[in-house]
This record gives sequence, C-alpha cells and structure tokens, in this order.
Amino acid sequence: MIRSGEIAQGRLRHALSFDVEEHFQVAAFWSAARRREWDQLGSRVEGNTRKITDLLSEHSTKATFFVLGWVAERHPDLVKDLAQQGHEIASHGYGHELVHTQTPSQFREDVRRSKQILEDLIGRSVVGYRAPSFSITSRTKWAIFVLIEEGYRYDSSIYNRFQTTERSSVTRAGTYQLETEAGTIWEVSPSTMNTCGLQLPVAGGGYFRLFPYAASKMFLKNLEQQGAQLVIYLHPWELDPDQPRMDGPMLSKVRHYLNLGKTEQRLRWLLKDFSFAPINEVIRPIRDIIEGQGECAHAVE
Ligand SMILES: [Zn+2]
Repeated sequence: MIRSGEIAQGRLRHALSFDVEEHFQVAAFWSAARRREWDQLGSRVEGNTRKITDLLSEHSTKATFFVLGWVAERHPDLVKDLAQQGHEIASHGYGHELVHTQTPSQFREDVRRSKQILEDLIGRSVVGYRAPSFSITSRTKWAIFVLIEEGYRYDSSIYNRFQTTERSSVTRAGTYQLETEAGTIWEVSPSTMNTCGLQLPVAGGGYFRLFPYAASKMFLKNLEQQGAQLVIYLHPWELDPDQPRMDGPMLSKVRHYLNLGKTEQRLRWLLKDFSFAPINEVIRPIRDIIEGQGECAHAVE
C-alpha cells in the first residue's frame, strides 16, 4: 500500500542522504598517522555542506545528514542549522573508523559518543546510523546488536543484504527489519539495480560520479518505474573539486578525485528529475516509529 508521505504532487518521493565528513577522513586515505594530523588539516566540510543545503533549499528539498561526531564537535552551528532547516540529523559514528577495524566495545563507544554529541546539539533523539564505507558486513553482524542496544532504530550501512538473515516484510525502498536477540532494527540500504544477476550500485557516491548523469538517471528512473523508492547518498567533499590532493594508493586517488567538478551540476539535475525527502519522513517504517513514539518531539534529557 502506498502512503501519502511517499507521494508528493503526484511523484513518488525518495530518500536523499549525505555523509558529513572531511575530505581527509575517507577510508581510502585513512591511516593512524594521518588521523593524528586531522586537526592541522584545513577544514572544508562546513562550506561544502552549506553548498548542499543552498542547493536543497533552491529545490525546496530536505534530506538526511549522517554527521560524524568529530565534525559535529568542531562545527556545532552547522549541525544546529541543519536541524533548524528541517533536515534529519543521523549519526555517521564518531571517528570514521571502519567497523571491522574496531572491537565491539570500541564500536559501542564510537556510536554512543556520536549519538550523544548530536543529541546534545539538536535536543532531539537521533535514531539513524550509517557506518563509514558501509562497513557492516556478514563478518561484523555484532555491530547490529550494539546499535540496537545503543538506541538506534534504523541502520543504513549494509550494501549487500545478509543472505542468511530472516527478513520480515520488505518495503518499496527495500527497507527490511533485522530481528536479533537484542531486539529489532530497520535496515535502509542504498539502492541497487539487479542486472544480469549482479547488484549494481547506482545510488550515489563514486558510482554517481563514474556514470554519466544520463546513465544514472536511466538506472534510477527504471527503478522508480518498478515502484521502488530510491535511497541515495553523497558526501559534501564530492562537490569540492578544489580540495587539496592527498597521497595514497593510485586506485584510491582515481576513485576519490573522479569527476568532482561534475557532482554539483549532477545533483541539481537529480533534484529536478526526482522528488526527495529525509529518511525519517519518507521511508514508511521509520516514519511510523517517529510518528508512533514521538521520537522527534522528545527533548533529550
Ligand atoms: Zn564516511
């Protein structure tokens, strides 16, 4: 059944999200040595994120921002402004470390710290989480238990569904409920397209920069015509062609710097060609949680 929140002006509404992090924090360039330099490297995240919110406001569109705790501590006004503008604030963890490089207790500390920082800034519950580089896999299923125990209600970190996981109903967005001994959580995975038996990632990031916009649009329209709600993601640094270049593996450099100068225009086209809203507004089970339990209205104690 299609619900009214999923349709706006006759168009199916999709979920748009951004992972708010500095250009030097991406996993491809991550090293303990570089991490120690983070505070000395020039910050560009606030300007890049505000470039996105200006674009969104031109198209009267709201989105979900998965904000890194480390960034929120250094740019509190940015987080407050995003919330005041009506965007959803969700968590990207604190230190942008891949899940499988952490112990369960380190991961718990990371997701707890970031949730607390964000909630203190916006005065509302933060219910969504996305791991750096979608790094919750079948090897790190324990992370789902931790997220549930730490009060998260949805996760957006799993690109390829766990083959062995029991799933209850799957929504138009491909959202499904993960049932565990610790409780349940909704999984909101980025969109993929089934081509010749392969799940082709078409939902954003490097893939959005790699394919010509006409190809991305064709893939996404195809999914839309099948009745699917899209879950799209991008990063603020992807709209910053002038960011300083970092040393790293050649493949990482090619991937990271590919077509940065084209993303802003492609995002404009995307906003014109599709209708978007935040995850907590447009993905049905998440909206039901928010509406049913008044999560957004509750001030954090
Ligand atoms: Zn990230």
